[in-house]
Amino acid sequence: MAIRKVVLIQPRRDGRMMGKGISQPYTLMRLASLVPLDIPVEIWDEDLRALPIDTLGPQDLVGISAKTLLIDRARVLAERIKKQGTTVVIGGTHVTLVPDEVAEWADVIAVGEGYRTWPQIIRDFDNGTLQKRYVDEAWAPLDSGIAVLQDRVLEQVDEHRNYWTPYLEITRGCPRNCTFCTAIRVSGQKMRLRPVGEVVEEIERRQIKRFFLTDDNFGLNFRLHPEYMEELFRALAKLPLRGWTCQSEQMVADFPDLLALAREAHMDKFFIGFESLNPDNRRELGGKAKGNAERYRSVIKTVQEHGIGVVGLFVFGFDHDTFATFDQTYQFVRSSGLDSVSATVLTPFPATEQRTQLLAAGRILPHDTWEDYDTAHVTYVPALMTVDELRDSYDWLCRKLYSPSMIAHRSLRQLARHPLPKVPKRLVSAFSTDLGYRRAYNFRNNYANNALQPAS
Ligand code: SF4
Repeated sequence: MAIRKVVLIQPRRDGRMMGKGISQPYTLMRLASLVPLDIPVEIWDEDLRALPIDTLGPQDLVGISAKTLLIDRARVLAERIKKQGTTVVIGGTHVTLVPDEVAEWADVIAVGEGYRTWPQIIRDFDNGTLQKRYVDEAWAPLDSGIAVLQDRVLEQVDEHRNYWTPYLEITRGCPRNCTFCTAIRVSGQKMRLRPVGEVVEEIERRQIKRFFLTDDNFGLNFRLHPEYMEELFRALAKLPLRGWTCQSEQMVADFPDLLALAREAHMDKFFIGFESLNPDNRRELGGKAKGNAERYRSVIKTVQEHGIGVVGLFVFGFDHDTFATFDQTYQFVRSSGLDSVSATVLTPFPATEQRTQLLAAGRILPHDTWEDYDTAHVTYVPALMTVDELRDSYDWLCRKLYSPSMIAHRSLRQLARHPLPKVPKRLVSAFSTDLGYRRAYNFRNNYANNALQPAS
């Protein structure tokens, strides 16, 4: 069969904010860039517009990428698209974690990163030799120019017009093995690095001035690859960037020289996984956090003294947590000087050690869909609280953390760290993170009214 076009779909989730999408389909942009130039390719983002499914036909190949909480929406879309006689490939995080579950209903599944198998799938479809299952078993080397974004993809996505914050990836993987995290299975245990020159070329070609790094644990490279980080920061310092943010762990505070270079490279904020203030939870935290409040305070102070903000990430519902953990965290956030804060409920994602243990203990709550696996719903029976107590404690904390007065307090305190002439340029950055979390919390609580509408 001669292929007519390839369509890659991001299922609906966050919607738009003031006309623009929140979650850029960065992975799909890279997969679209692997499509040979003589085959037309389109990216359809359901958060941006109703999908023109009626225009699809048997010569089109559709790929849908879905993480766990989007897999049910992906299935609704796939069933609708298949009625057009169109073949649908399901890839992404969820199918990588539990391939057999998705294989029960998908035409084709793509397990793993897909950089090797996606081009093969396109060839096989074109030749009429498509298989049911493709497994990308080896981690793709990021140092060989893999999936460089094509100009036609950038033109079509039109990221400056359609999305708030461009995404970028510089490193991938995490050698930690926190019991609740899927990174080791989705991104691999070995840290992989993109060449600095390639990163700079991509930033310049995309003409992006701000970005959010999708890297699992960028900050860990301060220890693992200090020379690479120095080279990267010196290169980024020369670019006309307005700011960028990344995910990290606390040890970045132990590298003051790299922190200084990071600031010169226009880094705005670290999202740091403190995870818990309850020291009894440290076994679950992969050795990166120990529930030591004084250490956390010192990390925040050190990073901020280098001119970089700190967003604290906390998870609730570990086996030693009670309401006291929530109250302690609230007091800590008030007094620690954090710039913004993210509070999430522990979520036993498929194929994690945590889920295995909870399943063995019969503590996973029954569920017909995966839509509650959004880190804001309680999906298992906690050890020292009831399900209702955990849910109510989480709601109590979020109402306090994301109240307008707390957001204003944290944001104004951030602004006060900057000289007056720079304040106007910092306004958006100072408020946006907390407001984003407030919106996400409200959205998650309203999601039951919103879920699984028919495909348009
Ligand atoms: S450090 Fe972060 S990315 Fe790494 S395994 Fe733990 S939670 Fe996942």
